Amino acid sequence: MDAIVKPFATSTAVVTQADRPSQTEAEEAVRTLLRWIGEDPGREGLLDTPQRVAKAYREMFSGYERDPADELGRTFEEVAGFDDMVIERDIYFHSHCEHHMVPIIGKAHIGYLPDGRVVGLSKLARVVDIFAQRLQTQEAMTAQIASTIQDVLNPRGVAVIVEAEHMCMAMRGIRKQGATTLTSTFTGVFKDGPEEQARFFTLLRAGAKA
Ligand SMILES: [Zn+2]
Repeated sequence: MDAIVKPFATSTAVVTQADRPSQTEAEEAVRTLLRWIGEDPGREGLLDTPQRVAKAYREMFSGYERDPADELGRTFEEVAGFDDMVIERDIYFHSHCEHHMVPIIGKAHIGYLPDGRVVGLSKLARVVDIFAQRLQTQEAMTAQIASTIQDVLNPRGVAVIVEAEHMCMAMRGIRKQGATTLTSTFTGVFKDGPEEQARFFTLLRAGAKA
């Protein structure tokens, strides 16, 4: 798994700007798909659709343009000796599965045990967003979030839980609605010490709205 996950952990675009098709080519590809599903790209309601889809894709997949390591770059070290667990729970995200390019909707919970360096809480949410705005599998995304925080912040350990619903399971295939997939990655003391992992789950539950 590491072999798949690592190259994307902190890198930005997989394809260089020069290799990318133009916006016109992207719009043409949307017209092809429209014809393929049985539509007429020339009818009035669809005239601007290829342009809109290209624009939406640019936004929904903007995670390739951004480096999650940059977001964590600015740390706040003066935390008056605070070195206990930091937890950011219920970080909502939208992503797309790499198998069907259909939405994955869910939330991430992140915990880490600082080693002198602490980041602003919004930064953790931004790391989630950057990875979510790429084509994903939930397993890879969970591991990428954990390894980026571990690599950049170098805390004593990182715990990441992702729970999400995969629209490709609800809208097609087995059409199972409301099924949630749970994935987790633990590093450092969370991986090696069951008591820190247990404390993470206890704190997570304590913060949960009943
Ligand atoms: Zn899928």
